[in-house]
Amino acid sequence: MIIEPKVRGFICMTAHPDGCAANVDEQIATMRQRGGFAGPKRALVVGASTGYGLASRIAATFGAQADTVGVFFERPGSAKRTASAGWYNSAAFERRAAEAGRGAWSVNGDGFSTEVKEETIALIREHLGSIDLLVYSLAAPRRTDPVTGETYSSVLKPVGAPFSGPTINPRSGSMSEVAVDAASDEEIAGTVAVMGGDDWRLWTETLAAAGVLADGLVNVAYSYVGPSYTQDIYRNGTIGKAKEHLEATAKQLDGTAGGRAYVAVNKAVVTQASAAIPVLPLYIMLLFKVMKEQGTHEGCAEQMHRLFAERLYADGGAIVDEEGRPRVDDLEMADQVQQEVAKRWESVDEASVRQIADFDGYGAEFLRLFGFGLDGVDYAKEAEPDLAIPSLSEAAS
Ligand code: NAD
Repeated sequence: MIIEPKVRGFICMTAHPDGCAANVDEQIATMRQRGGFAGPKRALVVGASTGYGLASRIAATFGAQADTVGVFFERPGSAKRTASAGWYNSAAFERRAAEAGRGAWSVNGDGFSTEVKEETIALIREHLGSIDLLVYSLAAPRRTDPVTGETYSSVLKPVGAPFSGPTINPRSGSMSEVAVDAASDEEIAGTVAVMGGDDWRLWTETLAAAGVLADGLVNVAYSYVGPSYTQDIYRNGTIGKAKEHLEATAKQLDGTAGGRAYVAVNKAVVTQASAAIPVLPLYIMLLFKVMKEQGTHEGCAEQMHRLFAERLYADGGAIVDEEGRPRVDDLEMADQVQQEVAKRWESVDEASVRQIADFDGYGAEFLRLFGFGLDGVDYAKEAEPDLAIPSLSEAAS
């Protein structure tokens, strides 16, 4: 099949297996080039197939030589339809891990469910015995509570008052004002139920009860803060309420298995999750332009290398802020970056966005998430869409 991008709204319906593999290879190369570090040896990553979770799995495996179990919810391909990008990423990751002599096993299914947690525990028992690192990097629009059976939806809305701000169509470059009504109490509670700490706590408690957490466990989930002008929609909005809940959950989970629980604050990057947040794509375009000009730009791989090597597993113990959070958004939040982005935020319009913001870079980065536009990939060549993830095909046979 010749595979081309088919973008619909915030998502690309197709993905390229060779391009996704090239993407994984680039992240592995970044990790190797930045250097190994003393870190985890047996890791579980929940949300391991794209974005920060994939980069965490790559950091653990190729930075610290860990064996890993990864959990994700991805669509396999068929003769007629491509798989989702995370499926191809995971297939490529497992192949590279095996070549490097590292163990990698995966579970594809709803990580919110009890069944997937149990399947994961069985894999950990069989292959790792216990884990010394748990990364929780799941981003999802919906969650069904495994106990009550109730399904919650996450929304991206302001809290308390309506919000309006500039938005951009990342493909056409047309800009408009987006207006979003304030969330209802039910919408706030739903977003907290999906993206807050409930499921992270359930994972941690279930793993602890099964006796598969090693002493001194490092347990980490991810958050975002960002600048003042995205606060109303992000940090003070429904997703911010969920992040507050996640951070409060870290305090409850701290000490589990005699270890530490953290919520790390990462930089804004282009992922499937961030593309759907109003206002954020325009901010990211401005941010990337300024950080590239100043030579401080980072993607998921650089971020996760720094988080692991220089924060969580720093010599002499983890480095955290006054609220106990490891911060790798420091370069994004640096004054010289934020002052310049704020200045451009005030003036950006359709005429200037291609010069003062990284409009083209954002579009290219978005397509790369799905394996399009990578160097060395022959997109005119027939590609095989029905590709197996090695550990999943072994499990099925
Ligand atoms: P992403 O969309 O790239 O990845 C989401 C992962 O969750 C994928 O592996 C997907 O398969 C998995 N997943 C989704 N639903 C699932 C389910 N029901 N069961 C099992 N797995 C499921 O997202 P991301 O942007 O990497 O976000 C990960 C975390 O990082 C989130 O907490 C997010 O808030 C945080 N974060 C993101 C940014 C950013 O700019 N993207 C910045 C800071 C923090």
